[in-house]
Amino acid sequence: MNRRPFVAGNWKMHNDLVAARALMAGLRAELGGALNVDVAVCTPFTLLYPMGREIDGTSIKLGAQNCHFESKGAFTGEVSPPMLVAAGCDYVIVGHSERRHVFGESGDMLRKKVVAAQAVGLHVIYCIGEQLDDREAGNTERVVESQLQEALSADLNTDLLTLAYEPVWAIGTGKTASPDQAQSVHAFVRAKLGGVFGQETAQRLRIQYGGSVKPGNAKALFECPDVDGGLVGGACLVADDFVAIISAAQDSV
Ligand code: PEP
Repeated sequence: MNRRPFVAGNWKMHNDLVAARALMAGLRAELGGALNVDVAVCTPFTLLYPMGREIDGTSIKLGAQNCHFESKGAFTGEVSPPMLVAAGCDYVIVGHSERRHVFGESGDMLRKKVVAAQAVGLHVIYCIGEQLDDREAGNTERVVESQLQEALSADLNTDLLTLAYEPVWAIGTGKTASPDQAQSVHAFVRAKLGGVFGQETAQRLRIQYGGSVKPGNAKALFECPDVDGGLVGGACLVADDFVAIISAAQDSV
């Protein structure tokens, strides 16, 4: 099945307003025409509204990097899914490894976030991935399977769901999974998605690869049959690099 690739940039905690506007100007200049891939920029909360204005009239979409699972209330420092919609978001990343491992987010919490985000029409990019010791102990499949089980169930809206396989040892380290390593986990994840949602839906769902995707390695990764684009951290902060990665996704179609 031909799945439309999806490339999302995760800005993490980078860019002030001036730098963000310059980056978006670079993207606008180079991504003017029609794209055969979906593209999103996931900015810090404070940049969502101004970046929504910057992407106006382009095919680039806006995403957040996290959300709370309640819609409002006494949750100091948190931002809710309806607030993200109001700020112009179409997407939200849930379960990024930094949320799991730095901020201690549990599977139960992530499941609530997925449900709450979809309830207001946000498309969820749900991240999974093993740590280095998991991989070295041969536990990669067990870990990603449990991360899938924690958050996913047949009642979710699969039109509002993308998976991102991000081996933790490859995020921000410059170490990328080889195309064979990525393909093997993506095929495993797709088989497990088939168990939850049925085979037809699993074939339709996109699974991004994330972990030190760069212009020089994107083509080989995106050409893998079960890799449907990427979730890009460091390289999305440089317009030319992000555009080159998007071009690699376009060429993989
Ligand atoms: C990420 O932030 O999801 C990521 C994959 O980062 P990087 O591309 O820098 O490894």
